[in-house]
Amino acid sequence: MFDVAKAREDFPILHREVNGRPLVYLDSAASAQKPRAVIAAMTHAMENSYANVHRGLHALANETTEAYEKARENVRVLINAASASEVVFTKGTTEAINLVASSLGQSLGAGDEVVLSVMEHHANIVPWHMLRERRGVEVKFIPVTDVGELDLVAYRNLLGPRTRMVAVSHMSNVLGTVNPIAEIVRDAHAVGALALVDGAQAVVHGRVDVQALDADFYAFSGHKLYGPTGVGVLYGKADRLASLPPYQGGGEMISRVTLDAVTYADPPHRFEAGTPPILEAIGLSAAIEWLSALDRDAIAAHERSLYDRIKAGLNGANWIHEIGRAPGKGAIFSFTMEGAHAHDIAQILDRYGVAVRAGTHCAEPLLDRFGVTSSARASFALYNTLEEADSLVEALHKTRTFFS
Ligand SMILES: *Cc1c(COP(=O)(O)O)cnc(C)c1O
Repeated sequence: MFDVAKAREDFPILHREVNGRPLVYLDSAASAQKPRAVIAAMTHAMENSYANVHRGLHALANETTEAYEKARENVRVLINAASASEVVFTKGTTEAINLVASSLGQSLGAGDEVVLSVMEHHANIVPWHMLRERRGVEVKFIPVTDVGELDLVAYRNLLGPRTRMVAVSHMSNVLGTVNPIAEIVRDAHAVGALALVDGAQAVVHGRVDVQALDADFYAFSGHKLYGPTGVGVLYGKADRLASLPPYQGGGEMISRVTLDAVTYADPPHRFEAGTPPILEAIGLSAAIEWLSALDRDAIAAHERSLYDRIKAGLNGANWIHEIGRAPGKGAIFSFTMEGAHAHDIAQILDRYGVAVRAGTHCAEPLLDRFGVTSSARASFALYNTLEEADSLVEALHKTRTFFS
């Protein structure tokens, strides 16, 4: 059993009130709250050991560089990469995917195809649309079934000799669906395509092994993983990163610059132009250490019980329509309520101290697929309790009285 009460003690923010009621934070899929270990690590660095990385010969620069590179190693262990040099720090998932699309895109053009899915976050759609606009690359989408799974038969039919890249999410931020990534990657490789995985949600809720998945690229953000904003990760297989041209130019990413020539540094530094998110990487490093000391399987079971509790509490509530009912889905509950707009639902729930998200969740094609323009979403983290799940159910029943 996961000790949620003990875990909650690590999160100062969870003790505050909203509208005179205890905060019930059910918006962790948008961004998770931060444990004291993360706050302390960043404060400690600023108070005791801070300088720019990689270019100093003084004590503080060396200490900070060590902490920054240790963060890289902690990420390596978290996702079981073969080498820390396969870990590139970015601003987040969005920048990681833009990096790949932009760098790989330099060698793509008309006749080349990229396969995405209808359940992607805009972060894994728009960069590829930009390649379509700029370079004439064709973008294709794997359809989503009524329960919210990828149609894998249709996927295989989309693959062909012109497929250069398959980019799909490991876990949907709207549906909670966990996709069979190893299988998807294997099929992509079978036609000679690369595979990129958007792991922004999956890395939070389960264990990720990039070698077992065999993905060429894997992207995630620090702030959803209980770490700070402003830092994320692009994992890339060593040979894939080595074959990609640089993304941005500047300091730290070169090996030699003269007035008429430049040679680039090897990965990962080739892709980290300018001063990197140093404090943020240190914060992410602390988040990974803190999370890794907990029982990840017990956390997954706990999050599952929160979802089950809400489902049980809303059993028979035919005025709630859940979007995404895939077997084995993660702890995300997206829904619409009859006669109510999602924004109104979120505002009324907020009066009861319950924080949920409402809108398109940066996944407009997916909402189009389900014939809605917006939905509400409750998403769970390890610090949520069964009582909070009950609070949501109770607040939803009260919300309904406003609309019926
Ligand atoms: C949040 C999210 C993103 C975007 O992450 P950023 O931190 O905003 O860059 C991409 N994909 C999924 C599945 C997400 O949940």
